[in-house]
Amino acid sequence: MGLAERILAGEIRAAARLMKEVDDNVPSAVEELKKLYPHTGQAYVLGITGSPGVGKSTLVDKLITAFRAEGKTIGVLAIDPTSPFTGGAILGDRIRMQGHATDPGVFIRSLATRGAMGGLSRSTSAMVHILDAMGRDIVLIETVGVGQDEVDVFKTVQTAVVVTVPGMGDDIQAIKAGILEIAHIFVVNKADREGADRTMAELAMMLEFNTYGEKDWRPIVVKAEAVRSVGVDDLLEAIGRHRAWLGQGETLTNHLRERARVEFLEILKETLSERILASLEEAGRLRQIIAQLAEKETDPYSVAEGILKERLRG
Ligand code: GDP
Repeated sequence: MGLAERILAGEIRAAARLMKEVDDNVPSAVEELKKLYPHTGQAYVLGITGSPGVGKSTLVDKLITAFRAEGKTIGVLAIDPTSPFTGGAILGDRIRMQGHATDPGVFIRSLATRGAMGGLSRSTSAMVHILDAMGRDIVLIETVGVGQDEVDVFKTVQTAVVVTVPGMGDDIQAIKAGILEIAHIFVVNKADREGADRTMAELAMMLEFNTYGEKDWRPIVVKAEAVRSVGVDDLLEAIGRHRAWLGQGETLTNHLRERARVEFLEILKETLSERILASLEEAGRLRQIIAQLAEKETDPYSVAEGILKERLRG
């Protein structure tokens, strides 16, 4: 049996293997992904983002426990910010979730933001497809929420949760800058700290003036103290409400189309540029072009246009 068939049969080792191949950009991985694609779309994809230290992993851990109690199977993708200095991923997430390590109903995988040939959102989509195809009921994506890449990832989740803590004024500014438009639920965690109610009020006010991307969904703000499991039920209820709202006809269709759009455009861009780059490198033309550009014998705009015309003819 091929990898795809084994994954469809729910085999964990086969899923782990294909994920590794996706990471390593093994060409045959794409063939397996093609076979899996028609079987995807069943899992509920939940995104959790927030600055390091706000308590995302603690919350994810509690959510996993709650979902498991309902008998649901889970896949977790922890997108680790990779340090440019050590080159290593921060493994805190995985360590904290070790409580679920022996549970076959919980599959946890870290994804580095650096190193993969393709962009982050492309490899994340592939990982989601694998977890979805192997039959996981829920896929949780945890990110630190920085940069366009992560915003793109968030466009593909069904329910987007943003976690913050009291007194993080700067954090709220960052939320404003990109994630706000796509967040469905806000969690003010560490409510045991001073200023939680003020942060709740600030968020509520910010949302008041926001024009929502998705027309009639008004983001819910939840107060939590994740370490003591306080507010986890409220968060679950908010997720349930958003899920029910999304489950309605046209809204869901629009969401699925948006998800397909983001993924397709990313794959199209990368496929085209990878192919063209590979052929230029093979023919030794890339070095030649770069030299000409450095000598100002030509300009990058004309060269790019010329290559495209050449390709379209061929
Ligand atoms: P992440 O980096 O966002 O995943 O945050 P973690 O889940 O690793 O949590 C960072 C630290 O905050 C850990 O030491 C947690 O125990 C702690 N923490 C999480 N939730 C709470 C909370 O509600 N109150 C307090 N005081 N600490 C918390």
